[in-house]
This record gives sequence, structure tokens and C-alpha cells, in this order.
Amino acid sequence: MLLSKFRTLNPLSPILPMTAVILDGKALAEKIRAEIADEAAAFIAASAVVPCLAAVLVGENPASQTYVRNKQKACEKAGMASVLKALKTETTTAELLALVERLNGDPKVHGILVQLPLPKQINEYQVLEAIDPLKDVDALHPENVGRIVQGRPRFLPCTPQGIQQLLIRNNIQIAGANVVVLGRSEIVGKPMAIMLMQRGPGGDATVTVCHSRTKNLPEICRTADILIVAIGKAKFLTADMVKPGATVIDVGINRTDAGLVGDVDFQAVKDVAAHITPVPGGIGPLTIAMLLKNTLQAAKLQAQSQGKKSGDQQSAVKTQPQASARKHIPYT
Ligand code: NAP
Repeated sequence: MLLSKFRTLNPLSPILPMTAVILDGKALAEKIRAEIADEAAAFIAASAVVPCLAAVLVGENPASQTYVRNKQKACEKAGMASVLKALKTETTTAELLALVERLNGDPKVHGILVQLPLPKQINEYQVLEAIDPLKDVDALHPENVGRIVQGRPRFLPCTPQGIQQLLIRNNIQIAGANVVVLGRSEIVGKPMAIMLMQRGPGGDATVTVCHSRTKNLPEICRTADILIVAIGKAKFLTADMVKPGATVIDVGINRTDAGLVGDVDFQAVKDVAAHITPVPGGIGPLTIAMLLKNTLQAAKLQAQSQGKKSGDQQSAVKTQPQASARKHIPYT
């Protein structure tokens, strides 16, 4: 009974409590951000284009204000530009759509991020669908979601992409693993499940998705080799819901009197899991790093598409004289 709470993986210390390896998202995010900064510098040197993220913030939600500020700071640190478009809480869907249209048409803007949630009066789907898919760095446009589902993504959504990178770069076996995702949001749970079930590197898992109507949730959670928890309920996942030796990824960010806490009861779960992410310092910083990656990717895609367009124009110009010359070739 007592032993079940103790590490059995270490044959030399069978009675030492199992303390999970902490997956340090903050340190990994710094490493990835440095990689992106190098890649951005090379792109800027080669193209004279500075990747730029436009962040759109509607209203005065303090958490959203902090997220947007952090995203902008991260852009600047990576040598990229950022602009903030702050709109009042009473903004209408039409006003927001007009701003998105302007940003779509602005060649200096490569990525557009509309910070969610939006005030109730705004039709969120309409706004997300209005973003140019080539500038959709949150990967929420239906075209980009469709591409993810088909396994040929243009952008991967930032939080699931950060989680996938954390697993890969910590050599956590994904292929063949039983993954349980708690939560089915458009931004985390749903794309996460799809990404991990795709064929190929970072995928090939057997994925189960749970939500508020799931029966026998603790039982299903205990089948997981990898548990990804994104439900927004402080310390919801308790130690009895975790298979010994599992990897536990805590996406939750809950503001409580005791400060920021995740969806996982970290103190108890770390004695059962083999790997666990902390909150803060886990998935949050990786989400921002992936936003930078997507912004750079967006700038590259737009440079390519511009190059292609001007290439097409040039070849059209080149072919014109031939076409007109042909007019003078008499039929034979
Ligand atoms: P969300 O839109 O808030 O939806 C919550 C999901 O959890 C829903 O699918 C809901 O099920 C499910 N759920 C709620 N209560 C449940 C319960 N008792 N048992 C099982 N499932 C339950 O989700 P989200 O936007 O993904 O956010 C989740 C958490 O992650 C929040 O704390 C958020 O702040 C955090 N987050 C963090 C990051 C980051 O960078 N670290 C990024 C995004 C979100 P139904 O669908 O049935 O309602």
C-alpha cells in the first residue's frame, strides 16, 4: 500500500518517493526563441523584410493585455516587429472586420493575432474567417484547420505546437503511446488531438479526447501514457487519476488567491508521474515561442508568394512581345 506511492523504477532506491522530472518549458522556450532569432536574422538579411506581428486587442481584459504585451516583447527580442491595435470593448463585428481587412492588405504586416476571448457582441467565427489564411498565425482560419486535419499544415496552433515540441525535444515516446487529452477547445484540445494522431514524427499516438460529458473520466485518464490537461479548472487532475510513470502536461492557467495554478494538482501528481510540466514556466512560454515561429513562417510564405507573383508578372511581360510578335506571323 505504502510502496505504491514510491518509486519502483529505480532498482537501487525502491523506497525513494517517485519525483517526476520537471519539463522546463521556460528553458526550452528560450532555446527555441534563440533559434528563431537566428533564423529571423538570416531571413531579414536575405530579403530585407522584417517579419511583423499585428496583435488585435478588443476591450480591457487584464489577462489578455498581459498576454499581448508578452507576445509583443517576445517579437521584439527575436528581432521582429510588432504593432498593437487596441479597440474599445463596445467594438462591433463590422468595425473589427474592417480592421482585419486593413491588416490583410498591409504588406508590412505578416501575422495577425486577434486575442481571444472577444466581447460577446462580436461574431468570433466571422472575424477569424476574415483573416488572410497566409497571415493566420493562430491557425484558426477554417482553411488552416482543414489543412491540419489533412496532415499538411501551413501553421500549427501555438499551444499544441509547443506541447508537441516539448515532448519531442525531451525524447518522450509519442508513437504508439496512449494519449488522453482533457478538453476539446478549438485552440488547444481539438488541434492537439489531431496533431498527435497524425502519421509521422510527433504523431502516431492513440488519442482519446475527454470533455465535460465524459463518463468514467478518472478511469480513462489512468490509461494514459501522456495526459494533456486543458480544461481551466484549478488542480482538477489529482494523483489517483494518473498512471505511475505517465507524462503529465498541464496547460491550465487559473488565477487563484494562491497565485497562478494549473489544472493539475502538481504537488501530489509529481509523486506519481515520470514527467510533469509546472505552472507557471511550462506550456505558457512555449506558446509564445511558437507564435514567433509562425510569424516568421508567415513572413517567409508571403515573401515567396510575392516573389511568385512578381515572377508571374515578369514572365507575363516577357511573353507579351512574343504574343504580339505572333500576331505578325502570317499563317502559313
Ligand atoms: P476552454 O475553451 O475553456 O474549454 C474547456 C474545455 O474543458 C471544454 O472542452 C470543456 O468541456 C472541458 N471541461 C470543462 N470542465 C470539465 C470537466 N469537469 N471534466 C472534463 N472536461 C471538462 O479551454 P481552453 O481555451 O483550451 O483553456 C483551457 C485552459 O488552458 C484554461 O485554463 C486556459 O487559460 C489555458 N490555456 C493556456 C494556454 C497556455 O499557453 N498555457 C493557452 C490556451 C489556454 P465541454 O466542451 O464539454 O464544455
